[in-house]
Amino acid sequence: MTDFAATKEMFYLPEGMIYLDGNSLGPLPKAAPAKMDAVMKDEWGEFLITGWNKAGWMARPTQIGNRIARLIGAEENHVMVGDTLSIKVFQAVASAMDIALSRNPDRKVILSDNGNFPSDLYMAEGLIKTLDRDGTKGLELRVVDPEAVEENLTDEVAVMMITEVDYRTGRKHDMQALTEKAHAKDIVTVWDLAHSAGAFEVELAACKADFAVGCTYKYLNGGPGAPAFIYVNPAHADTAQPALSGWLGHDAPFAFEQSYRPGAGVERMRVGTPPVLANASLDAALDIWDLTTMAEIRAKSIELCELFIKKVEARCPMLKLASPRDPQIRGSQISFHFEDGYAAMQAVIARGVIGDFRAPDIMRFGFTPLYVDEQDVIKAAEIIEDVMVNKLWDRPEYKVRNRVT
Ligand SMILES: *Cc1c(COP(=O)(O)O)cnc(C)c1O
Repeated sequence: MTDFAATKEMFYLPEGMIYLDGNSLGPLPKAAPAKMDAVMKDEWGEFLITGWNKAGWMARPTQIGNRIARLIGAEENHVMVGDTLSIKVFQAVASAMDIALSRNPDRKVILSDNGNFPSDLYMAEGLIKTLDRDGTKGLELRVVDPEAVEENLTDEVAVMMITEVDYRTGRKHDMQALTEKAHAKDIVTVWDLAHSAGAFEVELAACKADFAVGCTYKYLNGGPGAPAFIYVNPAHADTAQPALSGWLGHDAPFAFEQSYRPGAGVERMRVGTPPVLANASLDAALDIWDLTTMAEIRAKSIELCELFIKKVEARCPMLKLASPRDPQIRGSQISFHFEDGYAAMQAVIARGVIGDFRAPDIMRFGFTPLYVDEQDVIKAAEIIEDVMVNKLWDRPEYKVRNRVT
């Protein structure tokens, strides 16, 4: 059994703050600053260039990939860490397209849904422009409603690119079922686990997902700008064509050959120099994940989410639940519609409950059992009630939009 009181103690949380935004940026693990300090002073400071070997900096992305693999049901040595999620989305979709078009050259469509995060859609658009500059090939990004993905898995589709959990509503796709349906039509799948990794159990290997990507600064608490990850199914690992063929994905980077030869397996999904300092912070964050299981995290997350919905709905009739009511088809966040959601969220934040706002009218709260408990949820619901019932949000200063919402 996980001691969640003990894991909560392992995070620095500012006095008086209830942090319900770990789905956007996880909090600071108390062990991370010392770890980074040691990497900076004892490794960078003392070893300089020799740190790549002596301190194992070059092997770290593979090792961290294996730590993440355990949390997402992936095979060992099939997850690579580096770059940002947007880059990893591009890599995965490009390799997936290459596989799909080599099997079925007439296919035209990358299928996604309008619950996907804009950066994923932009990346797919950019790839299509790169592959089909003047549109003569007829390649197309087709974006449908989340409920309509299944019926749109037709034999026009080359790649299905889906984010498992909708960042606004928290609606969760059925990875197993959609992957099976896609494969029945010979469609290559790319799953974005941005709101899945560290939120609930993911079974990439069991679902036979072709590619997956995700970030580590949300539920995994790796720190702002922490590197992303990419998973390549063993069936593709040694044949996937890397579109971003950087030197560190080369089979022999230090042979400095004239032309690119992909490295073994998922090593080819490296691009350039690993972010050594960011990896140190991520590594410290992952130590905490060794103390729990995703099954326990999921069970606790459902408890917290159910409690939150019950309390908020009982007190705030003006807030309309935007998330699915059934926890089985929901991630680890709860969202409500409210017309003045931006101002209301600012007022809630001013009272120490940190959630966020997503246009046009979504107030979003993330639930992260490693450091959020029942008392936090009850207190948060009381504060939200006070703000909503007494209209504390209706003040000009809460209506000024910041750059990051
Ligand atoms: C958070 C998130 C991103 C962010 O991408 P970055 O490159 O890390 O900024 C992309 N896609 C999805 C689905 C996300 O939830």
